[in-house]
Amino acid sequence: MEPLPEFEVLSPRTLAEVLAARQAHPHARLLGGGTDLVVNIRRGIEAPSVLIETMRVAELRTIKADANGLDIGASATAAEISRHPGVVEHYPVVAQAAASIAGPTHRNMGTLGGNLCLDTRCIFYNQSQWWRAANNHCLKTTGEICHVAPKSRGVCFATFSADLAPALMVLDTKVELAGPQGRRTLPLTDLYIGDARHDGSGRGDGKRYLALAPTELVVGVRATVVPGLRSAYDKVRIRRSIEYPVAGVAVALRREGNSLAELRVAITGTNPRPVLLAGTQGLCGGPLDQRVVAGLDALVRDQIMAMKTTFTPGHYRRRLAGVLARRLVLRLWDLKKGV
Ligand SMILES: Cc1cc2nc3c(=O)[nH]c(=O)nc-3n(C[C@H](O)[C@H](O)[C@H](O)COP(=O)(O)OP(=O)(O)OC[C@H]3O[C@@H](n4cnc5c(N)ncnc54)[C@H](O)[C@@H]3O)c2cc1C
Ligand code: SF4
Repeated sequence: MEPLPEFEVLSPRTLAEVLAARQAHPHARLLGGGTDLVVNIRRGIEAPSVLIETMRVAELRTIKADANGLDIGASATAAEISRHPGVVEHYPVVAQAAASIAGPTHRNMGTLGGNLCLDTRCIFYNQSQWWRAANNHCLKTTGEICHVAPKSRGVCFATFSADLAPALMVLDTKVELAGPQGRRTLPLTDLYIGDARHDGSGRGDGKRYLALAPTELVVGVRATVVPGLRSAYDKVRIRRSIEYPVAGVAVALRREGNSLAELRVAITGTNPRPVLLAGTQGLCGGPLDQRVVAGLDALVRDQIMAMKTTFTPGHYRRRLAGVLARRLVLRLWDLKKGV
């Protein structure tokens, strides 16, 4: 690790002050808990001269969760989300995902906004400046090729690895953004544009993976309760005490008698964006039988495109995602009360 370069930290107390600071310093970076950004700065991946911290903005720290809906501000921490009684009771998938982020110290600092906007990762990019310089950098910084997939034709396959995004996606969550032009609300799935298609037809990739305008920020997320929806999150990581997911899976389903009425599955740690599996509704309408299990496996195989970017080969991570999804679906199907 290199020493930290110098930067100035601005500490606004209101959202209006954050927006004003962003306009005054267009190249500044937002600082949530800094558990990812500061590591990247120390590694020389980026060197912003101004950081605008968001954790002192009281209006961004709220958590409201009850039987009617979920409303979380961008600066709520993972620890606060994981132990909020309303989140634990009504939105277990979110509480479980928050509780699985990194280790306890990271969860005390890491925020919802930082988690949703987490930088994508890969085995080459997340190295020191001198190591990357010695190996000629890559597309995501100043280099000309992808060192993980040299035939990628200009596409970066760095992986999105945050745990809260898939958990919120299966609840059909909306994300609220604010910028100089005002506020706007998007389905959370639309925040992510990292399609990473070889033929260049994608909207983005591991380098450009968020639909945020340069001076916009995440203000918070909102979801409503779907009566009878059961949800859970699970992930596999190399070190259980503190680690990004090798693959992380969120599932929400609704059972009506012996029929699967609704199924949503979202996966992180594999593609340049969190993937809400398309086509799961086609598996609904009957009992949870072999047809559903095989169909789910096929959807994962088709839509999950994991690269060898961490400790495991890509095909292992894709298979792992399929196994986690199947286990969660079976568990939730038989759930009586609580997870
Ligand atoms: C050893 C280690 C293990 C980790 N394990 C995990 C893990 O298991 N799962 C996981 O999900 N993460 C993991 N992380 C990453 C990180 O700790 C968490 O994702 C955390 O929630 C990030 O939040 P933060 O507030 O610290 O983000 P920051 O580091 O403050 O910010 C991250 C990015 O988000 C941007 N940002 C921050 N707030 C906003 C906002 N409101 N609007 C728009 N952009 C914003 C920042 O500018 C920056 O680009 C790990 C990190 C480390 C160092
Ligand atoms: S996947 Fe992206 S970040 Fe990793 S080496 Fe390739 S271009 Fe760089």
